[in-house]
Amino acid sequence: GILTPKPLSMDEEPETLSLRPRALSDYVGQPEVVETLEIAITASKNRSEPLDHVLFHGPPGLGKTTLAHIIANEMGGNLTVTSGPALEKGGDLIGILTHLSEGDVLFVDEIHRTPKTVEEFLYPAMEDFAVDFVFDKGVHARSHRFRLNRFTLVGATTRVGLLSAPLRDRFGIFRSLDFYTEKDLITIAKRSAALLDVAIDTFGAAELARRSRGTPRIVNRLLKRVRDYAQVRGDGVISKATVAQALTLEGVDEAGLTALDRRYLETIIRFYSGGPVGIEAIAATLQEETDTLVDVVEPYLLKTGFVTRTSSGRRASEAACRHLSITCRKDPLF
Ligand code: ATP
Repeated sequence: GILTPKPLSMDEEPETLSLRPRALSDYVGQPEVVETLEIAITASKNRSEPLDHVLFHGPPGLGKTTLAHIIANEMGGNLTVTSGPALEKGGDLIGILTHLSEGDVLFVDEIHRTPKTVEEFLYPAMEDFAVDFVFDKGVHARSHRFRLNRFTLVGATTRVGLLSAPLRDRFGIFRSLDFYTEKDLITIAKRSAALLDVAIDTFGAAELARRSRGTPRIVNRLLKRVRDYAQVRGDGVISKATVAQALTLEGVDEAGLTALDRRYLETIIRFYSGGPVGIEAIAATLQEETDTLVDVVEPYLLKTGFVTRTSSGRRASEAACRHLSITCRKDPLF
């Protein structure tokens, strides 16, 4: 069973859960990550030991949570899901840790946002499978070590740079997830369409893949909008034209950019003459959280080359100007 001590802010609707691959062999793409896990899981099962702690890094929606579910499944343990910001006090974490059984998996999403005081309980838990309780204060302080069952911690972070070195060093396995290839996204689109029982042709799947920002979660979300559109406005079959029409209605353009992506690029180009401009200035102009821009908007724009990061700030590329049909000033540095 899956225990969720505190609700997550993620869109964990039942349908999203059912679209999740349950075994490593069903997981599409990320071949290096899959191979690393396959070897580590098989080896630790053969030795009857819990799997080393695993840290996943990468933009949201690439499958970190899915991999935590798969690890628990493959190891035959229960999964407990929490997140860094949900662990407000040491007691929150201790309560979870002391309820874990041998071989269970604890998934901590946004682990870089774990409060420092809570993080300190993680060190002995990860290293020695123990928690240290401290009684009394000052000269009377005594500590008592409480043994935990051997578990596996799976951490996920969008920003590995914000993780403290002592925490990072306690993970035996560290893998970054990259944006998916179009080929993998097509496979995911077809797989999800089959699970949702909607017909999609190859061109429809390709168009959906091309507009999903390299992200499986977006494929699945847009697929549902396209399915609605096909069933209400079309003949129920998802073709290239259906995808294009439905996604234009959703504000997703041919490159998969959303309204926020385009506003971000337009801000750099129109307000700051193409850059370089600091992220704080862009966030202030857009009235958006800096974190949202850094975690959600920028990774894909950097990946596609619409924006570049220099020591003096962000710059929009010529490709971005062309994509938005804006005539950009000719800059010798451009
Ligand atoms: P976050 O960082 O916000 O927790 P995430 O990277 O953990 O996001 P998931 O919630 O694991 O993302 O995945 C989002 C959705 O994408 C899931 O519904 C899952 O079905 C689908 N998905 C993710 N990875 C794959 C994959 N490799 N193959 C098929 N579907 C996938």
